[in-house]
Amino acid sequence: MTTTSSSGHLELRGIGKRYGKVSAVDDVSLRMEPGEFLTLLGASGSGKTTTLKIIAGFEEPDSGEVRLGDRAITRLPAHRRNIGVVFQNYALFPHLTAAQNIAFPLRVRGIGKAERDERVRDALATVRLEGMGDRYPRQLSGGQQQRVALARAIVFQPQVLLMDEPMGALDKKLREALQLEIMRIHRELGITICYVTHDQEEALVMSDRIAIYDHGRIRQVGTAEELYERPGSVFVAEFMGESNVFHGTFDGTGSVGRLVVPGRPPITVPAGGSHRPGNGASAAVVVRPERIRVQRKRTGEGSGPEPGHNVLAGVVQDVIYLGSDRRYLVELPGGGTHQARVGAAEADPGIGRGDHVELAWDRSDAILLEAPAAEREAAS
Ligand code: ADP
Ligand code: MG
Repeated sequence: MTTTSSSGHLELRGIGKRYGKVSAVDDVSLRMEPGEFLTLLGASGSGKTTTLKIIAGFEEPDSGEVRLGDRAITRLPAHRRNIGVVFQNYALFPHLTAAQNIAFPLRVRGIGKAERDERVRDALATVRLEGMGDRYPRQLSGGQQQRVALARAIVFQPQVLLMDEPMGALDKKLREALQLEIMRIHRELGITICYVTHDQEEALVMSDRIAIYDHGRIRQVGTAEELYERPGSVFVAEFMGESNVFHGTFDGTGSVGRLVVPGRPPITVPAGGSHRPGNGASAAVVVRPERIRVQRKRTGEGSGPEPGHNVLAGVVQDVIYLGSDRRYLVELPGGGTHQARVGAAEADPGIGRGDHVELAWDRSDAILLEAPAAEREAAS
C-alpha cells in the first residue's frame, strides 16, 4: 500500500479539543503554505502538542477540520496521512538498529527490501549519519538519536513534517547544531514543517512564520518581524522580546492621540494603527527598549520635547553593560521602572546609577494597543 500524495497546503479550520474541563485547543484556524516552516510558540500547556497530535492523527478533534491539499484528513488514520513526526524524547525502538528504525515506516508501507535499503542509506546521509546504520540507540549520543528519529520521519518522503520540541532534551551547543541541520534539510527537501517550541529565540532563528499560542488559542500569526514590529496585543508584544508597557486612557483626534497616564505627562501616539480606542477608553502603549534614547536631563529654556517626540524624566536605577549595547533601568516619578537599550556607539558612558535622565522616543515608535484587561474580557 502506498500513501496518496496530493501536494498542497496544510490547513486547520476551527479546531477544538477539550479534555474534561480543559479547553486544550480552542477554535484554531491556520493555513500553512507548501514548503513553509511554521512554528507554534507558546508557554507550557498552551495547546501546542495537542494541535500537532491532531494534525498527525494521534488525536481526533471535537470540532473542526484538518485539510491537506484539497482533502479533509480529519478522520484518516495517522499512517495514511503522509505526515512525518519527531518528538522530544527520540522514541526510537531500542531493540532495532538505527537503520532498522529508519526502515520501519517503509515496512509499514509495504516497500520492498531493495528500495528500503536505498532510501535508508539516503536518509542516513541526509542527517549526516553515514556508516552508523548498524548501531543501536544506546550506542548513539542524544543528538545522534534525534537525527535517527528525524531520518525515520522523512524516509517515506512525507509532505509535512511535524516536530514537537525536538531539541528539548539536548544541551545548548547540540541544539544550535541541530537547528542548522533542520534548516538545511528543510531547504533541501522543500518539505512543509510545523515545529513546536516554547523557546522564543529558536522560533526566531528557524521559522518563516510563527503562531503565538495562549490558552489553546492562536493570538497572532506572522513573520518574526511582523510580530515584533506590529504586535496585535500586549500579550504578543511581551512574548516577543522586551517591552515597555504604559497603561492609561486614550484621548485623540485624527491620526494622533495621547495616552493619559495618571501622575505623568501624557504620551503622544500615532493613532492610525490597527487598534483605535474610543476617547476616554483604557488603552496600552508599548515601546521597545531599543527605540528609547537616554539623555541627561536638560533644564531651562528649550528643554521641552522636540516635536514628534515623547520625553519622560526619571532616575537611573541601574546600567547593565552588554558589550554591544547598554541596558538602562530607569525609575519614573510615581513609580514604575522602564528600560532602554542603547547601542555602544550612542551610549553616554558617563551616565550611571542615580543620575537624572530623560527617556526620549519618536512618537511613531509607540504602538497603541487594547488594554490587557479589556483583551481578557473580550476573550472570555
Ligand atoms: P503544550 O504542548 O503547549 O505544553 P498541551 O497541548 O500538551 O500543551 O496541553 C494543553 C492542555 O491540555 C494542558 O492544560 C494539558 O494539561 C491538557 N492535556 C493535554 N493532553 C491531555 C490529556 N491526554 N488528558 C487531559 N489533559 C490533557
Ligand atoms: Mg507540548
